[in-house]
Amino acid sequence: MNSDVLEMTRSTNLLDEAVVTTFEGTLRGELIQPGNGRYDEARQLYNGMIDKRPALIICCVDTADVQAAVNFAREHKLLLAVRGGGHNGAGLGSCDGGLVIDLSPMKGIRVDSAAGTVRVEGGCTWGDVDHATYPHGLAVPTGFLSTTGVGGLTLGGGLGYLTRRYGLTIDNLLEVDMVLADGRFVTAGPDQNEDLFWAVRGGGGNFGVVTSFLFRGRPVSTVYGGPMFWEMEHAAEVMRYWRELILTGPDDLNGWFGFHTVPPVDMFPAEHHLKKMAVITWCYTGDLEEAEQLFEPIRALAPMAMDFAGPIPLPALQSLFDGLYPPGLQWYWNADFFTELSDDVIDLHIQHASRLPTVHSTMHLYPINGAAHRVGEKDTAWSFREANFAQVIVGVDPDPASNERMIRWSKDYWSALHSYSAGGAYVNMIMDEGADRVQAAYRDNYDRLARVKAKYDPDNLFRVNQNIKPMTG
Ligand SMILES: Cc1cc2nc3c(=O)[nH]c(=O)nc-3n(C[C@H](O)[C@H](O)[C@H](O)COP(=O)(O)OP(=O)(O)OC[C@H]3O[C@@H](n4cnc5c(N)ncnc54)[C@H](O)[C@@H]3O)c2cc1C
Repeated sequence: MNSDVLEMTRSTNLLDEAVVTTFEGTLRGELIQPGNGRYDEARQLYNGMIDKRPALIICCVDTADVQAAVNFAREHKLLLAVRGGGHNGAGLGSCDGGLVIDLSPMKGIRVDSAAGTVRVEGGCTWGDVDHATYPHGLAVPTGFLSTTGVGGLTLGGGLGYLTRRYGLTIDNLLEVDMVLADGRFVTAGPDQNEDLFWAVRGGGGNFGVVTSFLFRGRPVSTVYGGPMFWEMEHAAEVMRYWRELILTGPDDLNGWFGFHTVPPVDMFPAEHHLKKMAVITWCYTGDLEEAEQLFEPIRALAPMAMDFAGPIPLPALQSLFDGLYPPGLQWYWNADFFTELSDDVIDLHIQHASRLPTVHSTMHLYPINGAAHRVGEKDTAWSFREANFAQVIVGVDPDPASNERMIRWSKDYWSALHSYSAGGAYVNMIMDEGADRVQAAYRDNYDRLARVKAKYDPDNLFRVNQNIKPMTG
């Protein structure tokens, strides 16, 4: 436990019961403390490796609850964490001994199909958003799973199946409503609080609590997508082909490359169970009539073990892997951006991926070019606009006994490749790795972020995140 946490734990323990009761009376949502029957369920995070014990969990139902919770934490000098979907790998949606603002009851979504916009409250997951937008023939560019929270994913940048066609999630963000460290409620957008709007597009939860997001919806409903699997002997050839296709193909074509162990479940033929394979999961948003032709050379490339690609509603593609990765598994990951994937890098991938330590462990490379490249590196806080690939190496298993082995594998794999990387990583896919890694993620944008932080959160109330320190002096 670091000294900040110790100090906050002490102050929380000293909180008068009467003070907490009075505070509770100002809330519409539930206040959960240790001893409450729902405490263990409410404090649980997606990553089962992280076990935090907050003193107070405030299940906010509206903006007034959020304001009350921010003011209470500030006035009583409590460590403060903000929880959107609770999916963060490093567990930054919670804290030990402090106060957690849990936004999960705030699930409002309003689709304005005439304006093509989608207003989303801070507690929604991407599955909630897909469910609301699909009937309107719209989609907000999001991630690759439906259970991830809108809050953390968006504030860190947001990459997914529509990145090459429509940019990062932040490139589709029109406006946010926020509660600041001093308890004020503000809107930030291109015409008001522009500095704040710039900072929240990639700068994480450093600047306040976003109670609602206004997104531009995109006209996407049924796409041509799904995974294709190849045995490891074809992996290098497939990876080289994929690299060229992603660098030169139409924006409508997206597909992440990964290494997976085939899970021993009925949907996969038994002869493939537990084999390590190269996987590309496609999402083509162009004309469905042309898709078969587009995928012909890919299908002819090397003998394919399994082919699940075809027309599929986008929400179904988005949730295809949810069942494989339920909440509560042990997660450990390392990430980096890459501009190039040389043949040497591909060889190193094959070497390390051939040793995937558990059935759930994986390596993914996400394309981040196309429309995402057409936004300048100074236009939003997300700095790595020239990078083409976001790499994440993930050790995952239900059993904590595998942790040491899978963490060592993930670190070794990452170390072998890091010197070829662009030098920084996607903040949403790193653990709690210290100030240098946060600075490396923002590069030249870091100082500007630190100035915005000093203006809106000079005492660093919002510091349970990939923290940007307020600039001093
Ligand atoms: C299985 C899995 C799949 C993933 N897939 C993708 C993917 O496809 N694409 C991608 O880009 N990322 C992906 N991620 C990474 C994901 O974006 C981050 O883990 C993100 O932090 C999750 O957001 P959350 O709201 O669920 O997390 P939380 O743990 O609730 O919060 C994470 C951080 O964001 C802050 N935060 C959350 N909501 C708010 C808010 N409303 N206001 C202020 N601060 C807030 C929190 O304080 C915390 O610092 C994935 C993660 C996992 C575990």
